[in-house]
Amino acid sequence: MLVGAAGFRLRAMNPKPAQTLLWLQAASCGGCTMSALGAEPEGLAEALRRAGIELLWHPSLSEESGAQALEILEDCRDGRRRLDILCVEGAVLRGPSGSGRFQILSGTGQPMARWVEELAGQAGTVLAVGSCSAYGAMPSANPLVEAVGLQFTGDDKGGLLPESFRSKTGLPVINIAGCAPHPGWLLESLMALTQGLLQAGGLDSLGRPRFWANHLAHHGCARNEYYEFKASAAQHSQLGCLMENLGCKATQAPGDCNIRVWNGSSGGWTPGAALGAKLAAPDRDVIAVCGDGFYMFGTPAPALWAAKHHNAPFMVVVYQNRSYTTGTLAVDRKYPDSYAAKAGYPGGYFDPPIDFAKEAEAAGAYGENVRDPAEIGPALQRGLKQIRSGTPAVISVWLPRLGQKD
Ligand code: SF4
Ligand code: SF4
Repeated sequence: MLVGAAGFRLRAMNPKPAQTLLWLQAASCGGCTMSALGAEPEGLAEALRRAGIELLWHPSLSEESGAQALEILEDCRDGRRRLDILCVEGAVLRGPSGSGRFQILSGTGQPMARWVEELAGQAGTVLAVGSCSAYGAMPSANPLVEAVGLQFTGDDKGGLLPESFRSKTGLPVINIAGCAPHPGWLLESLMALTQGLLQAGGLDSLGRPRFWANHLAHHGCARNEYYEFKASAAQHSQLGCLMENLGCKATQAPGDCNIRVWNGSSGGWTPGAALGAKLAAPDRDVIAVCGDGFYMFGTPAPALWAAKHHNAPFMVVVYQNRSYTTGTLAVDRKYPDSYAAKAGYPGGYFDPPIDFAKEAEAAGAYGENVRDPAEIGPALQRGLKQIRSGTPAVISVWLPRLGQKD
């Protein structure tokens, strides 16, 4: 059993001899690769290994560069090396004037468009990874660059490759659409291919695998009950379906992304989330509470500046213990025999610590660093006063360090 719906799990029951995969990045922001790297639970490299796929080369992930990389590409193009799966990320630029010279594959002197055409002709299967590669998407917004998808231009059939194109296994380009596509859509498609389970009939009219494209985001929405009873929210943060008054388009949006785990857990989004909450509920006090590590990873200055500039002030209370558990505790625990552990690596401390009050002030917000526990209450009151008068506030509270004394 390989594929299911919501409970999809990557599982190669009968791995066949390794299939080779080559990945090219055309006019891409790199986000599709970033998404693929977040494949869960084991990450992209292990998922490919379990699927029995050998990654020949990826421009961002492989060690080979220059002449070594070119040799791999040429071997695939000229048929000296078997190419089972070609993944292309990003739209293909055909400009100026159809020459493709807006994007030359570095070190080759040849347009990326020509490389993609030639490699697609050798590949067992071709995958367009992401909406740019599938349909042209973002890059096609500028007509000057003449961006197209591999086998579609927008939703018209025919892109860089003609509508009639079929790869060596008889399949049209498989469109793993999405910006960025969920890593599960890519990996499950790859696994289905390696097991011979993905055929032309398994693709919808836009070339997407039906196992996820037949599902609408609406089907996984927690507000579905409201939809059924036509109970509509009038504004954000209210209970109710968001279609009637707030423009939700999920009844027409294919994808199961709201019922799949995406990126597991993550940190570093607190300031942006607080700004969003304030925009959604402008009449409420919004107070975010966050550790100092994730606060820093959330690059708070832009959110504070935007909050001030757009009159959406929120307050952040930062727990500043100046320590990061990955460095202070987790390395030793998870890798007790590592060189870091053996050497007594003292990592994981933000030392000297960032002055969050000054950082807030630099962004136009109010900031306080509090060390005396008796001052916490009054500092919070001062912060509240600030946000109620239109200025975002940051109250950083000094805590003991993890594992070490100050
Ligand atoms: S589909 Fe989105 S994430 Fe992928 S290359 Fe295009 S813009 Fe970037
Ligand atoms: S229309 Fe939108 S908000 Fe309403 S149930 Fe569907 S997905 Fe949810």
